Amino acid sequence: MSRVYAVANQKGGVGKTTTVINLGAYLAAEGKRILLVDTDPQANATSSLGIEKDSLRRSVYDAIIGDMPLENVLILTKRLGLDLIPAAPSLAGAEIELVSMLSREHRLRKALEPLRERYDYVLIDCPPSLGLLTINALTAADKVIIPIQCEYLPMEGLTQLLHSVELVRRNLNPSLGIKGLLMTMFDARTNLAQQVVDEVRKHFPNSTFRTVVPRSVRLSEAPSYGEPIVDYAPSSPGAVAYQALAREMSSDE
Ligand code: ATP
Ligand code: MG
Repeated sequence: MSRVYAVANQKGGVGKTTTVINLGAYLAAEGKRILLVDTDPQANATSSLGIEKDSLRRSVYDAIIGDMPLENVLILTKRLGLDLIPAAPSLAGAEIELVSMLSREHRLRKALEPLRERYDYVLIDCPPSLGLLTINALTAADKVIIPIQCEYLPMEGLTQLLHSVELVRRNLNPSLGIKGLLMTMFDARTNLAQQVVDEVRKHFPNSTFRTVVPRSVRLSEAPSYGEPIVDYAPSSPGAVAYQALAREMSSDE
């Protein structure tokens, strides 16, 4: 049975894309069939995999707005078992174009339907907003993964995000659940990082991943080489953490 997870947080730069790429690559390395869906007009997930976003003839835009079968947009990455639905800058217009479209919140879910059973996991990278692209991702998903940067106290933004998840559950996708909160960019040298982890664990004791992703410079270098961390620096601390996250995820289901 396939599982569809949206990786979402309206706050920018918290590790959404890094998580989608590296969790996806480690799950693929375990032999799982993985589809990554890039719904962010910045197309960082697409370029992190070495794909030149400006040279793409088709992107998720054509499926969400143009009714093109998602299968025609699919591309294979260098890593076996890791397929990608790329984004492109044109997707920026989709937020506006979607507003007047019929069943505007369900378009990604519908587009994914014929494809999802071919995969063990579908991971959707969301843009840093709670606009219609993120709503489409939440409507298409079974569960949400929420990366939280250990460098800022997250409660205010988190309350807003959980409220949106609740609204989507009530109105659009009744079975939507929270898969887990993932602490990222943890720096053991700062008190704040530990404070953030403690606060999140106190509020969400049963839905915070045990794995904590440390701040690791190799993780930030890998995208410019177009490689997931498993290929770029497999023994770095960031790599070890994302491998542990993949194990934690596949072992509890
Ligand atoms: P956006 O909201 O803009 O889409 P995002 O939530 O997807 O951002 P990322 O792009 O994954 O966040 O990460 C933001 C920046 O921090 C990137 O340059 C990334 O390489 C870097 N980064 C992410 N995780 C780590 C980490 N654990 N250690 C060091 N750098 C990291
Ligand atoms: Mg991103």
